[in-house]
Amino acid sequence: MQSYRQRFPLPPAGAAGFDYLIVGAGFAGSVMAERLASQAGQRVLVVDRRPHAGGNAWDHYNADGLLVHPYGPHIFHTNSAEVFAYLSQFTRWRPYQHRVLASVDGQLLPMPINLDTINRLYGLQLSSEEVEAFFQQRAEAVPAVRTSEDVVVSRIGRELYNKFFRGYTRKQWDLDPSELDASVTARVPVRCNRDGRYFTDTYQAMPLHGYAALFDRLLAHPNIRLMLNTDYRDIVHCVPWRHMIYTGPIDTFFDQCFGALPYRSLRFEHQTLPLPPGREHLQPCATLNYPNDYAYTRVTEFKHLTGQLHPATAVVYEYPQAQGDPYYPVPRPENTALYRRYEAEAAQLKDVTFIGRLATYKYYNMDQVVAQALSQFKQLQRPGTP
Ligand SMILES: Cc1cc2nc3c(=O)[nH]c(=O)nc-3n(C[C@H](O)[C@H](O)[C@H](O)COP(=O)(O)OP(=O)(O)OC[C@H]3O[C@@H](n4cnc5c(N)ncnc54)[C@H](O)[C@@H]3O)c2cc1C
Repeated sequence: MQSYRQRFPLPPAGAAGFDYLIVGAGFAGSVMAERLASQAGQRVLVVDRRPHAGGNAWDHYNADGLLVHPYGPHIFHTNSAEVFAYLSQFTRWRPYQHRVLASVDGQLLPMPINLDTINRLYGLQLSSEEVEAFFQQRAEAVPAVRTSEDVVVSRIGRELYNKFFRGYTRKQWDLDPSELDASVTARVPVRCNRDGRYFTDTYQAMPLHGYAALFDRLLAHPNIRLMLNTDYRDIVHCVPWRHMIYTGPIDTFFDQCFGALPYRSLRFEHQTLPLPPGREHLQPCATLNYPNDYAYTRVTEFKHLTGQLHPATAVVYEYPQAQGDPYYPVPRPENTALYRRYEAEAAQLKDVTFIGRLATYKYYNMDQVVAQALSQFKQLQRPGTP
């Protein structure tokens, strides 16, 4: 394997340059840029091949004037006081608790499964203690919890697994839950109380003026230059830089020399819809899941997230697909093994740092990526680090 400098030699000495070249203007790249510029006085060039900063979290006002998330609904939630305080320097917040209902057996039922889900699904009036016993009676003994199927059937049994999880997971991943790591369904809890919130994190809020405005402020420092519509490979030869922060897919960085890392993608179908007189929303909550019907997995109505008042409403349908932008790393042992080979190559490159969801091939939420960038910045500040 060549060193990165051999592949992309520096331009002639004396050319004006940057301390850092950051590939990708999502949360990983933008937080690194902000820290390096404002805290370390570094000159930073941020390059993104898309026509906007913000990565997958970017939002905008559509042609009808409704604030939407073109890459799917992004709900901010975190337990990290540090991450929340950090981002609060760049945005004010709108308190928002996300709620999801799943369409099952002709009803819209709370997801994650809770006491109300079970009582309404089966026409029961169980208490919290009784519903725990209900789950235990149905739970299947699983010798070792390895797959996504194991996680659910060992907790709540096969019938609820089939109604709420199996179809959704098969649509989302084109794999049976029995073929996926436990981590996928382990993210969705089961509750014995009536808490109908999707997340229970300490901090749950949406940027008051949207994500694009947050990114404008993150990247506003005079030491930061932003270059959009540009693949870093087109400029890496001609712009001098000392250290690269790479937040794109790790396999493409190495020209997929060990093979392509599998990703799952999505097709988003956005629609603006009229509202009946006197109504602000079409759906009872932000997201409706369809585990068992239709080709799409879920429908989200943005006005619940944004709080925007508007005579119409905007929704997005999510259709999982194999081809397209890389959104979800596919968590299977063989893919982790392939990633480890790329990770070992990356560790050899002292002048390149790999962070973010794509460069570390991990399903990270926004707050986790921000935390990773804040911690990586601290590491780069240690004496002796390039
Ligand atoms: C459908 C969906 C819904 C989500 N919902 C939530 C949610 O509700 N809450 C939550 O916390 N998280 C959510 N996430 C996760 C969230 O999107 C990520 O955690 C976050 O965006 C990752 O930031 P990042 O900077 O690592 O990557 P990205 O946002 O993907 O940014 C990487 C950037 O690198 C650029 N790039 C790649 N290659 C090159 C290249 N060769 N040259 C130049 N630029 C390049 C890309 O254009 C991109 O802009 C969701 C993700 C998806 C896909």
